[in-house]
Amino acid sequence: MPEDCLFCKIVAGEIPAQEMASTETIYAFRDVDPQAPTHVLVIPRRHIPDFDSIEPGDGKLIADMAAIAQEIARNEELSPTWGGGGYRVVFNVGDDAGNSVPHLHLHVIGGRQLAWPPG
Ligand code: AMP
Repeated sequence: MPEDCLFCKIVAGEIPAQEMASTETIYAFRDVDPQAPTHVLVIPRRHIPDFDSIEPGDGKLIADMAAIAQEIARNEELSPTWGGGGYRVVFNVGDDAGNSVPHLHLHVIGGRQLAWPPG
């Protein structure tokens, strides 16, 4: 784990977070600066810098992140399958997308009408 990685510190319990899901490989918590009524980050416990760094062997991990994102959307009553209004899942990659924390994270955002295209 890189010494100065914020999300590795959250996984290690060194920085507090509002837990939303926890498995052997995945952790999810509420974003500290929510952009919508629901804004949750789903991250691998293992340090992966970003979406651009994913390798073929990470397929199961990414599928597990997707499953947790679905579970959160259902629990937060966002899932259209269960009558919710919908939600967005986003990996920001690089400076142009505003990626600010260099530990892979999937944003799960919903609970209001979301603009498209994003700003
Ligand atoms: P990104 O801009 O895609 O890298 O997203 C990073 C996200 O991490 C932002 O939405 C931040 O608000 C969020 N964030 C930063 N520090 C924390 C923290 N300590 N706990 C929870 N979320 C955080």
